[in-house]
Amino acid sequence: MVATTQRDGETWYECEDCGLLFDDRDDARMHESDCDGGDPSYIQ
Ligand SMILES: [Zn+2]
Repeated sequence: MVATTQRDGETWYECEDCGLLFDDRDDARMHESDCDGGDPSYIQ
């Protein structure tokens, strides 16, 4: 999921799988669609 977070008075969009922050909601959603951060099988 993409979570919104407030930082330095600005709204950021955070990928809940890997913690990456985006300043654009669409960028965050695009990242989320191919994010491997929440998949344990990705880690060897
Ligand atoms: Zn991610």
